Amino acid sequence: MKRGLPKPRILLALAASVLLGFACQSTDTDEIAQPGNGLSASDFGDASHNCRFHSSRSAAASAAAASDSYYDRSLRREIDTKWIYSDVDLLDKFWNLDKIAVYIWHGSQSMNAIAYSSNVITFGENLYYDFLGKFGYYSAAGVMAHEWGHQIQYDYNFNGESRDMELEADNFAGYYLGHEGGRELTWKESSGFFDALYSIGDYSYNSPSHHGTPAQRRSAGRLGWLLADWSNKNREVGIQELHKTFFYYYNEVLEGSSFGRSARMPATSEEIAKGLDKEIIGYLNGHYRELKRIHNGEIKGKEYSNL
Ligand SMILES: [Zn+2]
Repeated sequence: MKRGLPKPRILLALAASVLLGFACQSTDTDEIAQPGNGLSASDFGDASHNCRFHSSRSAAASAAAASDSYYDRSLRREIDTKWIYSDVDLLDKFWNLDKIAVYIWHGSQSMNAIAYSSNVITFGENLYYDFLGKFGYYSAAGVMAHEWGHQIQYDYNFNGESRDMELEADNFAGYYLGHEGGRELTWKESSGFFDALYSIGDYSYNSPSHHGTPAQRRSAGRLGWLLADWSNKNREVGIQELHKTFFYYYNEVLEGSSFGRSARMPATSEEIAKGLDKEIIGYLNGHYRELKRIHNGEIKGKEYSNL
C-alpha cells in the first residue's frame, strides 16, 4: 500500500542534513562510496528515462557508458555536494519511495541526468555547474526533483509516451519545489528551474524521445507548483491524486482546446464523477487563462517568473 505525503516536519530535517552534510544523506551509503569506485552505467540497468538535459540532444543513453564516465558522491566543491545531497534527503522524506541511490556522474557526457528503474539516479557534474551558473541553485534542485518524479513513475507503474512522462516529472518537480513539506519555494524562486527547462525543451514532435516543447514544460511545471500551493492551503494530495489531476487538467483542459473553459469556471459534474476534487479543479480553473497563455508560449521571461 502506497502512502500519502508526509507531514511538513521536513525543514528541520533539511537543516540537520545541511549541518551534518554527507553523514546525513539518506541513500545507500554502504553500497557505494569512493570516487572512481569502478561503477559504470551498465551497473545501473535500464535507462528508461534519459532526461537529456543537454542542448544538443545528440547523445543517447549510451553516452552514460562513455569511456571517461565515472560515478561517485562528490561534486567539485564540498558545499555543492552538501547542497545537492540535502535535496536528496529532503526528496526521500517528502515522497517516501523505496530508497534511491544517487550518484554524481563525471566525465565529458555528464551534461545530463538519468533515472534508472533500478532505483538509481545519476546526476551529471557538468549539468550541475551549468545550471548553477545560468539559473541558480534551485534549478539544480529542480533537476533532482524531476529525476525523483521518474522514480515515482517507476514505483507506481505510471507509463506512457516520453513526452507525457517528462511533463509529469516536471509537474512533480514543481509540486516538490513549492510544497511546504518539500523545498517550500516561492514561485519566483522555483521559476529558475522552469526557465532552465524552457531552454532545453524540444520541438521534435514525431520523435519517440520528444520531451515536450519549452512552453509545455513551463506550463507543466507551473501546474505542479500551483497544486502545491493549493495543498499548502488545504490538505495533502497523494501521489495517485496528483497523477490523475495532472493528466486530466493538462491533457483534457489545457490541451483540449474545444473545452473553451474560462477563468473561475466551477468544476463540472463530469469532473466530479471522475473522482477529481472539485475544489482543486476550481482552484486550477482560477488560473486557467494564465496556464493557457504559458502553454501557448504567450507568457515567458520576466512575466513568467513574476506570476
Ligand atoms: Zn526526465
